Amino acid sequence: NQGIGSWPARRARKTPHRTALVHGGHRHSYADLHERSTRLAHALRTAGIRRGDRIAYLGPNHPSFLETLFAAGLLGALFVPLNTRLALPEIAHQLDDCGARALIHAPGCAPLVPSGAVPVTVRTGEEYESWLAGADRTPIDEPVGLDDTCLIMYTSGTTGRPKGAMLTHGNLTWNAYNVLVDTDLLADDVALVSAPLFHTGGLNMLTLPVLLKGGACLLTESFDPAGALELIARERISYMFGVPTMYDLMARQDGWADADLRSLRILNCGGAPVPRPLIDTYLRRGLSFQQGYGMTEAGPGVLFLDAEHTAGKAGSAGVPHFFTDVLLTTADGREAGLGEVGEVLVSGPNVGPGYWGLPEATGLAFHGEWFRSGDAARADADGYLTIADRIKDMYISGGENVYPAEVEEALLALPGVAECAVYGVPDPKWGEVGRAVVVPAAGAAVDPDALLAALAGVLAKYKLPRTVLLADELPRTASGKILKHRLRARHDG
Ligand code: AMP
Ligand code: MG
Repeated sequence: NQGIGSWPARRARKTPHRTALVHGGHRHSYADLHERSTRLAHALRTAGIRRGDRIAYLGPNHPSFLETLFAAGLLGALFVPLNTRLALPEIAHQLDDCGARALIHAPGCAPLVPSGAVPVTVRTGEEYESWLAGADRTPIDEPVGLDDTCLIMYTSGTTGRPKGAMLTHGNLTWNAYNVLVDTDLLADDVALVSAPLFHTGGLNMLTLPVLLKGGACLLTESFDPAGALELIARERISYMFGVPTMYDLMARQDGWADADLRSLRILNCGGAPVPRPLIDTYLRRGLSFQQGYGMTEAGPGVLFLDAEHTAGKAGSAGVPHFFTDVLLTTADGREAGLGEVGEVLVSGPNVGPGYWGLPEATGLAFHGEWFRSGDAARADADGYLTIADRIKDMYISGGENVYPAEVEEALLALPGVAECAVYGVPDPKWGEVGRAVVVPAAGAAVDPDALLAALAGVLAKYKLPRTVLLADELPRTASGKILKHRLRARHDG
């Protein structure tokens, strides 16, 4: 087995007694991680799970998340992490879309699990522990190669429903190499993993590189800014990864000025541009961000701005990771010149093979070997790229991407909504929040609050527009396309 399912065994061979995971006051060594992942793989196999089957996981950060990932990798099964912030119909769609044969979930997530949807369903805690205790621990040796698919992560798109981005064992391995080459991560590092593991950032930028290197990951179930400051001091956290909102919340805590941050060595910030004032706030504490730009489909690391250039190249997303290449192309297919805006195309061993069950969408997403990001950027004379715009119609709220198409589809399904448009507006806390403009159907009395209440059952909370405005009509082009910039100008000055 060359896949990441073999990592715990390989680590246990080198550093069995070193701490791999810290959670809820317990320390789990690499030997423990190896044994528990192996037992889980046996238990899953006994329950009928085979190579190629999909194993979903729904829950906050917890050792069982990683045990399930590695157990799936041992069996050659596919791991499907689900976002705990989604609403039940969204989870149901993803379980159905991937045809999950097993689901491991936190007891607290039970209300999000559609009944009878998955043949093998196990709750973490007592049920999971007794499953493991009753399972074999002999080594599992399935032939799993780097080209085999390792996981499916759902990511939204411009066209409504989320798509399952596939990543192979090789993609995750090369992404981790990129991180190890481009950061000074050491085996002695202790990483604070409070970014969700079900997102590519928390899992692939943070946790997997640390475990590959033999460092320790401290898992917290959610991000609590005051708690994070305490943990940094108490556990001597040296490595953090988060989205700008998390770092901003930390710096706004009362305890910020006196917090002991001396152990921090690497502060990684990704998923959205880091605002200059936030960079400066941390610089005043002697801390310099590393910044990353990427996307789920690319494993995700694409561009990287090291700490040394955080201030000098502020606003830039950096240069490509060591093993990754980027090309900027203009709308007419030329390579963009110096300073000219073009779409970011990505290639490299970290780029995934496409979307689960969607050959057509996969075909559209690639230009030969190059993955089309849907983001626009320009390069400076040193080759540093700045993300200029998104070609796709997306905004980011607290680190979660929101695709207006998905929200608009849900709004249009509600009674009384004739037309609607959703876009992001700046927000000091979340970066951006959604605004919906709704045209009521003729004669319909539409109440914005009632619309929001109705959406709450079908869409994740972070996708709910902050405000719903009513309008008589939407500005459109001659061909009927909604002109969002016109809408913005009209409603937001
Ligand atoms: P996801 O599909 O959740 O992996 O999100 C990927 C998208 O997030 C990218 O295509 C970008 O639009 C956006 N994104 C990620 N990192 C950055 C960044 N550092 N700056 C600006 N946008 C980013
Ligand atoms: Mg995406």
